Amino acid sequence: MSSNSAAVLYAARDLRISEWEVPQPAPHEVRIRMRNVGICGSDVHYWWHGHCGPFILRDAMVIGHECAGVVEAVGSAVRDRSVGQRVAVEPGVPCGRCGQCRGGRYNLCGRMQFMATPPVHGALARYVCHAADFCYPLPDGLTLEEGALCEPLSVAVHANDRAGTRVQSRVVVLGAGPIGLACLMVAKAYGAVPVVVTDVSEQRLQVARYHCGADAVVCVREDRSEAETVKAVRQALGGDADGGDVGADAVIDCCGAESTMRVALQVAASGGRVCLVGMAQDEMRLPLVAASTREVDVVGVFRYRNTYPRCIGLLASGKLNARALITHRLKGLDAQQLLQGFEMARTGADGAIKVMFDVE
Ligand code: NAD
Ligand code: ZN
Repeated sequence: MSSNSAAVLYAARDLRISEWEVPQPAPHEVRIRMRNVGICGSDVHYWWHGHCGPFILRDAMVIGHECAGVVEAVGSAVRDRSVGQRVAVEPGVPCGRCGQCRGGRYNLCGRMQFMATPPVHGALARYVCHAADFCYPLPDGLTLEEGALCEPLSVAVHANDRAGTRVQSRVVVLGAGPIGLACLMVAKAYGAVPVVVTDVSEQRLQVARYHCGADAVVCVREDRSEAETVKAVRQALGGDADGGDVGADAVIDCCGAESTMRVALQVAASGGRVCLVGMAQDEMRLPLVAASTREVDVVGVFRYRNTYPRCIGLLASGKLNARALITHRLKGLDAQQLLQGFEMARTGADGAIKVMFDVE
């Protein structure tokens, strides 16, 4: 094996391809020859701002966490992974011992080591070591690209679980970025109908409608009042048998701004659930009492837990075409491609939704 090269973020707006040490797998780790790595909004945020929420970049860090590759070496204690296996990599490794881990909510572990969340190195590199238990073998029919998409799909599976989506649920997804579109696809795969999607971008709504299975879309326009937006979404959901206005059983806010959460609470049916995935704004003024007196539940989401096997199952079943999310594919890992890919993901130029690297 030759050398390792990696996309290393040194400081805000200083992202370079660097020669990097070839990592040696610890006893319970495997070394992966990385192939596909998707760019996520948080990668872009670290690149542009040098921080994301409470996490601050202090030292050089390899970027990227939506990834899949081929097992290339196994640690001395690894029994159930072998060289040559194609794996989807779950990027977060919890401690396994704390109350949250033992209680089954390992995504809330305070000692989580999550790729490309400082100070943990990420995945956009030729060789990466990772806990073997968090590397999931892919069946023959699935591509490594689909393996990498298990990461955003995992957010969507967990969000739909938290939102309580099931067969025949009426669902609203606010925001048609990669996460919103993934939530839409998972809701459809779960049998939800109708699924209504909103965004301010007509282009993203076209993708939702024609490539990701939305039953209806509503474009949120500045010249429309909040009440008009709420009415348009409720109309798109359709009425009950008597023509009554019922609202959504599950609303998934994949934007997370005050304006979307206000709409979310008002389009939820009485007794429905609003799931906040997006993090566009920290503090908001919301019509909470009106929602509370209709028993609308509001739930949070942080990443995901136990979702990889289900994502692989959903993809293998053919119920979900996750590749529709990928708008741009970049082959190789050179400086120009790297910055081009990140710039596209940042600006959404050229209709970019999911930018996917093939490290080769
Ligand atoms: P994104 O920015 O691509 O998508 C947000 C979408 O919302 C955009 O398409 C935007 O046009 C749209 N939007 C803006 N204003 C709107 C409005 N008023 N009504 C409807 N839509 C509107 O981001 P993404 O990568 O899809 O991620 C979505 C959000 O989810 C981000 O805030 C991200 O940080 C968050 N996220 C949370 C978790 C978690 O664990 N909770 C995990 C992953 C991502
Ligand atoms: Zn823990």
